[in-house]
Amino acid sequence: MRGRLFVMTGASGVGKGTVRAKVLERTRLFYSISMTTRSPRPGERDGVDYYFVDRAAFEALLAQDGFLEHAEYVGHLYGTPRLPVERALERGEDVLLEIEVQGALQVKAKVPEAVLIFLLPPSLSELKRRLVYRGKDSPEKIEKRLKQAEWEIENAHLFDYVVVNDVLEEAVADFLAILTAERRRTSRMAPALARALERDPDLEAELDAIVRRSYGGTRD
Ligand code: 5GP
Repeated sequence: MRGRLFVMTGASGVGKGTVRAKVLERTRLFYSISMTTRSPRPGERDGVDYYFVDRAAFEALLAQDGFLEHAEYVGHLYGTPRLPVERALERGEDVLLEIEVQGALQVKAKVPEAVLIFLLPPSLSELKRRLVYRGKDSPEKIEKRLKQAEWEIENAHLFDYVVVNDVLEEAVADFLAILTAERRRTSRMAPALARALERDPDLEAELDAIVRRSYGGTRD
């Protein structure tokens, strides 16, 4: 039985990372580590938070159709390497992506069975407060992120579910309830995903090389 593909999306600063961490503690999911061209922030680890690569490495994998989705976000490239996702789904594991909105919509177009869960802030002013409070971004970046967030919130109706992240524990409970409901469905993923993510030996070698560089080890 193939696994199911869950996509958590929403504006930057809405708390996707925090909700994701709590959800992963409480239910079994394969979390897809994204690749990005942005630099690591203090405390972030290569191969854990992201695979941090340069533009050339990212574009090489992109040229081989190595991403399930990708997007340029605030000047940096982000993408979901498709092979680990495909493998986990084949093993029957449910997979979680945590990505921004353009990428989530690409996933839905390629894999209509994917379940998209949109995390909303209680308000735009609260989102701004959170972005300023976490102190990761310059004022210009925060403005950019807020503009992007407005667009994303206007398009929330394109997703399967909406969860408001006001009280963290409630958002986590809502998210887990959605996973449970989806897991109780009788239908399963269609063969479309297998076609979209078809194996490719060159791609595998490329991905192995990138992961080896990041980990100093091997990918299982
Ligand atoms: P940050 O730079 O703050 O870690 O992430 C910026 C945005 O990129 C966040 O909204 C995050 O969810 C999103 N993101 C992280 N990984 C991916 C990915 O693989 N694909 C896409 N499309 N977005 C991603």
